[in-house]
Amino acid sequence: ASSWANVPQGPPAILGITEAFKADTFDKKINLGVGAYRDDAGKPYVLPSVREAEDKVIAQRLNKEYAGITGLPEFTKGAAELAYGADSPALGRLAITQSISGTGALRIGAAFIERFYPGGADRPKEIYIPTPSWANHGAVFTDAGLSVKKYRYYDPATIGLDYEGLLADVRAAPAGSVFMLHACAHNPTGVDPTQEQWVEIEAAIREAGHFVFFDMAYQGFASGDAAKDAFALRYFVEKGHQPVLAQSFAKNMGLYGERVGAFSVVCADAAEAKRVDSQIKILVRPMYSNPPVHGARIAGTILSDAALKKQWLGEVKDMADRIIAMRKLLRENLESLGSKHDWSHITSQIGMFAYTGLKPEQMDALAKEHSVYATKDGRISVAGITSANVGRLAESIFKVTG
Ligand code: PMP
Repeated sequence: ASSWANVPQGPPAILGITEAFKADTFDKKINLGVGAYRDDAGKPYVLPSVREAEDKVIAQRLNKEYAGITGLPEFTKGAAELAYGADSPALGRLAITQSISGTGALRIGAAFIERFYPGGADRPKEIYIPTPSWANHGAVFTDAGLSVKKYRYYDPATIGLDYEGLLADVRAAPAGSVFMLHACAHNPTGVDPTQEQWVEIEAAIREAGHFVFFDMAYQGFASGDAAKDAFALRYFVEKGHQPVLAQSFAKNMGLYGERVGAFSVVCADAAEAKRVDSQIKILVRPMYSNPPVHGARIAGTILSDAALKKQWLGEVKDMADRIIAMRKLLRENLESLGSKHDWSHITSQIGMFAYTGLKPEQMDALAKEHSVYATKDGRISVAGITSANVGRLAESIFKVTG
């Protein structure tokens, strides 16, 4: 018999939606399952700044030698400045490595915590993630040897933040716990704390002596302003935390398949950063040796060229603005159809995803009766909405929600 005869069939991943969508022959079908930006014609989008940077990279006829273990310094320097702010004092005591996009950054971070985060040998290395969280967080952290715990985050009753529940769970966790926070554009809910709430969350976390792991997969993509989207991260650093950070350039540069990201650790001083850097290298080397260069060259070119960076920030804002405009249109369409439901959450939520509050049966009906495809949890990718399909989408949602 084959060695793998007893390997069980795993459940289908999110891509099941894409398959159902493809199999549907209706010409006005709508796919709101994809986690990637689409332009107003519903097409994948390559940013003009990315095209320009890529042309520059190619024109240099660079060789294909290996990058160092922690990647291209031009890229990581730019990534650190973008996240923490170019004048942040943390930059002088930062250990940073290029990573295989955001997922790879999370994985390195989890491995670093598993190996070095202090705690008794009898204490499992735990990490708290929000309920709900990006579907991959649990698996990434578990596979890296961490024990995943949950804190309250989303309140289905209000389709908003369970602010009191979140604070209570922060306060109840054992001192020195690791808390993973979505820096902005929480996936899947689109529900972010306000700046005032972040201030209180920071205080609660500091008082409890917890440690913070930021996941920032959507900087600039949420509000259209990269500095504003980094508020929580920068505020925590300002307040004396030494967080770790996973960054992705998949969404804000549209570099999905190029796998461009960074993992960084804010240290106490430069000497500590040097030691941490040496250990990150020891972690990365047996995982994948060193990261791919092409995407990081593109991102590094954009981040280190003032004119190109300015152009890129404008293009990120255009993407964010299209998403915000589609939220508004969807809500207006639902209201003008006479829907009695409160749809204000559609416009108060932020980022690529909207948590509609629709039930699994309603999501089923959307797919079966209206050829509108999205995940059963009621999450829709706003990036899949266009000025051409928003009317039919609103009518479909109106019909299944009564
Ligand atoms: N974190 C969150 C919250 C995400 O939504 C995503 C992308 N869906 C990622 C991390 C990582 O994505 P990638 O590996 O493509 O950068």
